[in-house]
Amino acid sequence: MTTRLYEHSIFLEHQVPPGHPERPDRLRALNLALEHASFAPLDRKQAPQANEDAVLLAHPEEHLFAVMRAMPDEDDRILQVESDTYASVKSLQAAFTAIGGALAAVDDVMAGTHDNAFVAARPPGHHAEKMKAMGFCFFNNAAIAARHAQQKHGVERVAIVDWDVHHGNGTQDIFETDPSVLYCSTHQMPLYPGTGAKEEVGVGNIVNAPLSPNVGSDHFREAFHSRVLPALRDFAPDFIIISAGFDAHHRDPLAQINLTGSDFDWATGKLLDIAGKHANNRVVSLLEGGYDLEGLAESAGQHIMRLMKG
Ligand SMILES: [Zn+2]
Repeated sequence: MTTRLYEHSIFLEHQVPPGHPERPDRLRALNLALEHASFAPLDRKQAPQANEDAVLLAHPEEHLFAVMRAMPDEDDRILQVESDTYASVKSLQAAFTAIGGALAAVDDVMAGTHDNAFVAARPPGHHAEKMKAMGFCFFNNAAIAARHAQQKHGVERVAIVDWDVHHGNGTQDIFETDPSVLYCSTHQMPLYPGTGAKEEVGVGNIVNAPLSPNVGSDHFREAFHSRVLPALRDFAPDFIIISAGFDAHHRDPLAQINLTGSDFDWATGKLLDIAGKHANNRVVSLLEGGYDLEGLAESAGQHIMRLMKG
């Protein structure tokens, strides 16, 4: 089993104000962890930059233009795009490259050159709704990747599994009337952005598994066993995309779920089992949140190691 890793230095140039949690140091911490010899078999590649048309796979043109208009044009400026979403002069290029990495990862996995791939990109994507940048996200990388798998590669059923500690309101918004995409999310509730109740089911294709604050491994794994995994088995996806946020780690400052790296190893293994049975092992994983540098490095490291082991 071979795992591809997409990375790019442009992801470090998406600048945010001092003290903002979604900062370039997140990727520096992850990159440092991935220098360990155990990650040497990773097949690393520079993420290509997607063109503007890729955005239109999941967003209307009005949203693309609104984001482009919101970008600063001077080197030293950081503009507030939305309440907690900021942009610097290189942010648009970083966002297009995050999308480009996701699309290339889908292409690799569909071509069979790699069983799975991880895209170590920022800005993240799962809060971006069809018409709205929010929660540090401009464009919904996972949604765009799912549409690309369907439209370019003829994949019928795509499952997106989102274990970021925040609900992926954007991904739900984009797919809630589309039964060809299953969206499963574990997340803390109550917490930003406020969506993600069990009762939000879309057209039977949305499976929310909210977790109460201060729970840990047992509740997370139970949510997988009782809700996420049965839904995936019933859906029998042809392709699995993971919205891989690591802010449910116990060290994370933005939430109160108490997972450790081994929980992400476990959950990854469960999804690989499903992918092996239904999806010819095809899994693409995209970095979302994770704001404690040590927690992120540990969790993402264990997740990627599990992808490599298969
Ligand atoms: Zn998050």
